[in-house]
Amino acid sequence: MNGARVAIVTGAATGIGAACARALSAEGYRVGVHYRSSADRAAKLIAELDDAFGLQADLADPEAIDALVKELKQVAGRVDVLVNNAGYNENAPMLTMKLDTYDAVADLARGTWYLTKLLLRRFMLRSEGGSIINITSVVGATGNPGQIPYTMVKAGLDAFTKSLAQELAGRPIRVNSVAPGFIETEMTEELPEEIREAILARVPQGRMGTPEEVADVVAFLATRGSYVNGTVLHVNGGLYGG
Ligand code: NAP
Repeated sequence: MNGARVAIVTGAATGIGAACARALSAEGYRVGVHYRSSADRAAKLIAELDDAFGLQADLADPEAIDALVKELKQVAGRVDVLVNNAGYNENAPMLTMKLDTYDAVADLARGTWYLTKLLLRRFMLRSEGGSIINITSVVGATGNPGQIPYTMVKAGLDAFTKSLAQELAGRPIRVNSVAPGFIETEMTEELPEEIREAILARVPQGRMGTPEEVADVVAFLATRGSYVNGTVLHVNGGLYGG
């Protein structure tokens, strides 16, 4: 197959996704920076990287995913690595959580499944060594009060990882999850101080992780890790070992 290897990172304008885009660019990939609403931040990141292009879509909307895949054919023509990083959460206890919140979290998970299916069919099955990396969360394994839809979706994505790795048996594509613990991003910035302190008390390394520490594991799975398949790699400073 001709041309530079292409990596697509969803939700790449911010936080962990932006760190993944930088890490994959440093590994020599041409990077597709997907974003939903953070257009300015995506544009800045694209300008910073050696060879990158933007892709806009609300992944909760299947028609937007169809359009993204069409556009990808024009701008890249190949996909070797897919990092399903986009995630959504709103905290509320079970008894007061709105159906709309559940739908927003679940519709994005459906979009992750649909985007992966289309990219596999259109591009990735032709890659000589593809890698799909799903960014899940430690709370998919441990549970977390106030985050029931989010924990359901993250646990489900870990199951998606394992099932898809088995379905792709015999193909040169590996599928893995990277499950971060508590990482310093805008998602965790909103945590009240007492919750932040309670979390840190449970982390043996005594600090939150950085987006770069997650991206480092993603880059490993994309470029090396050739016998790591169908598994969940926890990146959490010792909070939970799997
Ligand atoms: P973040 O900065 O809030 O990133 C979330 C990204 O998801 C944003 O770039 C956002 O895009 C995108 N997104 C949300 N809803 C979307 C939708 N419907 N369609 C398309 N894109 C959508 O948070 P982050 O901490 O970097 O999170 C990245 C991933 O790591 C998520 O999957 C999260 O669950 C996971 N994670 C984070 C932590 C942590 O401690 N931070 C821990 C465990 C797991 P726009 O900004 O363009 O709208």
